[in-house]
Amino acid sequence: MAIDLEALYIDLHRHPELSFQETRTAGIVTQKLAELGLAFEEGVGRTGVATSIPNGDGPVVWLRADMDGLPVEERTGLAYASTARGVDPAGQDVPVMHACGHDMHVTALLGALERLVATKDEWSGTVVAVFQPAEEYGAGAQAMIADGVLDRFPKPDIVLGQHLTPLPAGTIGVRSGTQMAASDGITVTLHGRGGHGSRPHATIDPVVMAAATVMRLQTIVSREVDPRDVAVVTVGSIHAGLKNNIIPAEAKLELSLRYPDEVARARVLEKVERIVRAEAAASGAEQHPEIVVDHSLPPTINDIDATARLTTAFDAAFGAGTVVDPGMFTGSEDVSWFAREAGVPLVYWFWGGVDPQKFADAIAGGTIERDIPTNHSPFFAPVLHPTIERGVDTLVVAAREFLAAS
Ligand code: ZN
Ligand code: ZN
Repeated sequence: MAIDLEALYIDLHRHPELSFQETRTAGIVTQKLAELGLAFEEGVGRTGVATSIPNGDGPVVWLRADMDGLPVEERTGLAYASTARGVDPAGQDVPVMHACGHDMHVTALLGALERLVATKDEWSGTVVAVFQPAEEYGAGAQAMIADGVLDRFPKPDIVLGQHLTPLPAGTIGVRSGTQMAASDGITVTLHGRGGHGSRPHATIDPVVMAAATVMRLQTIVSREVDPRDVAVVTVGSIHAGLKNNIIPAEAKLELSLRYPDEVARARVLEKVERIVRAEAAASGAEQHPEIVVDHSLPPTINDIDATARLTTAFDAAFGAGTVVDPGMFTGSEDVSWFAREAGVPLVYWFWGGVDPQKFADAIAGGTIERDIPTNHSPFFAPVLHPTIERGVDTLVVAAREFLAAS
């Protein structure tokens, strides 16, 4: 019985769930796994699911898909657009959308498992499939590892995964070495002295302190990082005050920092700390600011030999020119925790979901940033075909490359 992958994708797209709340999604995954006759474990790392297909001697290949949606209000206008809502960790009611394509990841992995089950006489070894929660928090992989996924399932010889991206549908992007950046999410609390808005001289205004800090932080990348290196300093949230005539006592900034490696990380973090402290001192703050690293992700590094093998296999399966080097992405991923923890190679590639003609027109017109919505955009809307088929095929080709032939 074949899984109707288009119907599956549309259903998942209509019903996105926030990180660590992917219970409906996990339920659909386990239902499909049961239909394929596969044993599975659910609730791994809270809402994760894992399964294995033991098929004789040979390598153990892990395939990973993430399952969570995002607090984004969908504006694609698609007939199957999400109108879902959820409650975020702060207790707020928010719109939810599969704005990062994780619905496509789940669909492709289930399709690949179906194919691998159907072709068991052609390969030997073990396939482990991991349906991971909470990638968007950078927390799901570690939650599954903490819950023993590496002990409860055969240990990998290689970890493979893929992400949907705004490349033309049919195209695969993979890069040897650092594929995605390391990142840190940090919270800065600036302490001032609150008071009446009419008497600023009697206060230490954390709003002005925050504004100066945000502007000065922008000089890290523009003035202090070698222009040939990659780094990102984004202040994604700034909160202070409740009312126009009250000068508040503190301001909070939330930063997202990206870099290719540990050396760059240490340098950028040192610069952030120096500027935050100096701006507080410049404002006459009586209390030092606090800087807390909320979460960290390592860089996603593709194994050089395995990536070369995989690129050759993709070219052979899909034709020369299908695989492009997309460069290092400044986005980050937690997939590499599985490979790091197991001490084995990782290959993580991207596959396209944009109508190829639309993509070509945008390139020709120089309007790619305007016309091609990226992941996390409310307009992110992959074309169904051949995105679904290519997502299945890439996983199957990749798994078969590292499994043994029977
Ligand atoms: Zn994603
Ligand atoms: Zn994302």
